[in-house]
Formats: sequence, structure tokens, C-alpha cells
Amino acid sequence: MRVAAAARAGSVVVFGSLNVDSTSYVDRFPLPGETLASTGFATALGGKGTNQAVAAHRSGAAVRLVARVGADASGDFALAELARHGLDVASIAAVPDAPTGVAQITVDASGENTIVITAGANAALTPELVVERHDDIAAADLVLTQGEVPAPTIERLAAACARFGTRFVLNLAPPIDVSRGALAECDPLVVNEHEARSVGIAPEGAGSADDWWGAAEAAVGRVARSVVVTLGAEGAVGAAPGVSVACAAPEVDAVDTTGAGDGFTGTLAAFLAGGAELDEAVVAAVAAGGLAVQRRGTTDSYASRDEILQAME
Ligand code: ADP
Repeated sequence: MRVAAAARAGSVVVFGSLNVDSTSYVDRFPLPGETLASTGFATALGGKGTNQAVAAHRSGAAVRLVARVGADASGDFALAELARHGLDVASIAAVPDAPTGVAQITVDASGENTIVITAGANAALTPELVVERHDDIAAADLVLTQGEVPAPTIERLAAACARFGTRFVLNLAPPIDVSRGALAECDPLVVNEHEARSVGIAPEGAGSADDWWGAAEAAVGRVARSVVVTLGAEGAVGAAPGVSVACAAPEVDAVDTTGAGDGFTGTLAAFLAGGAELDEAVVAAVAAGGLAVQRRGTTDSYASRDEILQAME
């Protein structure tokens, strides 16, 4: 596919969750009250907003991540990791009275996991912070946020984007209760199949990719301005007024699908901010998702803009 928007770097403001993922690997999960030794441990940058910000940056956008950390070692680690990825960390402040968000993950020998998330400093992503950032929102090509951000903040962001004429993209992951008015501003609303059903986007029939394509088209103007549904190894579908796209995922050897959805969304936002139409941005995002699942890790698995453009040819 010819990429009309390849030359321009759009600007993206991400209002995003930031967590530090602490993963313990165990042979089996401990029983209540039991203490077990792990077989390994890893610390990594995480949080959907942060992952998406890194993916958008790797995809060529000028990214401003508005996030909150605690005044603690995890916060220092997160800032150092973001700097390693080349992200601007000027809009990430430390709050004094809460820990950096943390995801405590346990993975057993079969690959099954349990996850406990403590929102911590992410709760400081308040509607008031949206008002403080009005200038950034007005100046951006696109604002991106996710279901890990409190619903009142998402709703305030949608209203601010409508006021300033800035494109608003919401990845409703995890699915939380957001007002119909805020959903109506989304351009696009990005959801997987489970999240789609939570807002009344459901396929007719057995749920084939074609069924989901029809569901996305039917949701345009009814649920959101435009809609993108990700379908895992099947790829993704999307629709906007006058635009409709179904893109099969490349057949690849997937070694780690963690964070693939975030990689997809970050790339989608970067291409839209750069002036791409929705169909072209979905093709780029599917290419990016296909590259990300072939590498281990989350933020470290995201492809560069050049790799994405090459995979689109
Ligand atoms: P989530 O993890 O948010 O549910 P999906 O599983 O739908 O998201 O994956 C997001 C995107 O990542 C898909 O639309 C697809 O482009 C890509 N992807 C996911 N799994 C695979 C896979 N096994 N092979 C190729 N691409 C994949």
C-alpha cells in the first residue's frame, strides 16, 4: 500500500496509565497462605497508556505522554526506561502520596498468569489535569487515552477535544463505563471483541471477521464517529463515514502476544495523527501488531516506522 502520510510526523498527546510490571515465574501458583520460591523475576515498564505512547513514538509520531508516578524507585525506573526509548518525559510528574502504579504478575509453568494491579499514582490523572493541559490538547493532532484512565477524565478529554477540534481516540481497554456522549466523540473507538460487546457492538452470525466488519460499519454514527475492532490473529476491521477496511493479520510465528493490542493502537494513532486515512492507518497497525508478536516483551517488542512501512509493502 502506498503511504500518503509517510512524510509527516503528527503530534499525539497520550493521557496514559503508567505501571511497573513485576513478574514472578513459578512452577505452580501458591495456595492461600502458602509461600513459594520463584524460578525467576523480571521488572518492566508497563501500563496501557505508556505502552501505546512508546508504540506511537516508534511509529514516528511526536508524542507527549501525560502520566503520573509515585516519588519512589519504581517511578525513577519508569522515567529511565521512557528516556531509553527516547520519549519526552517532561509531562510526567511524581505525586507525593501514592506509589507508582504496579502490576504484580505471576506466571506458572504452563504460561497461565494471575495479575493484581494497584492504580497508585494513576488515580492522579484527574479531570482537573485535563483542564491544566488544554493548551497541549488544542495544539495536538490527536489525543489518545485508554480504559485504565478514570472515566470522568476520559469524559473531560472527549469534551476538550470536541471544543478544540482535536481528534480523540479511545482504546476502551479494559472496558469501563464511559458516557455515550464521550464514546460518540471517538474517532476511532478502538476495541477488541470483548470490549466491543461491552458498548453494544456485536456481530451478526458466528463472529467471523466479515461479521465483525459489518458490526463496525453499523456502529459508525450510532456508537462512535469511527470504530476499529481488533481480532487477534485474524487482524482488524474498521469503519468511518465513507471508509471501510478489513485487514487480515500476516501469518507469523507468534512468540509473545503481550502488549500487541497496545502496539496496534499506538501505531494507529501515530498514522492518523500524520494525516493517514483510517483504512491506511489500520493496515499500518496490523503490520505493527504482526511484528510485535514475533518478539518477546512489550515496549521492547514494538517495531520502528521503517520496519512498519516495509511490512506494508
Ligand atoms: P488485545 O490483546 O487487545 O485483545 P488483539 O489480540 O486483538 O488485542 O491483538 C491486537 C492486534 O495485534 C491484532 O489486531 C493483530 O493485528 C495483532 N495480532 C495479535 N495476535 C496476532 C497473531 N497471532 N498474529 C499476527 N498478528 C497478531
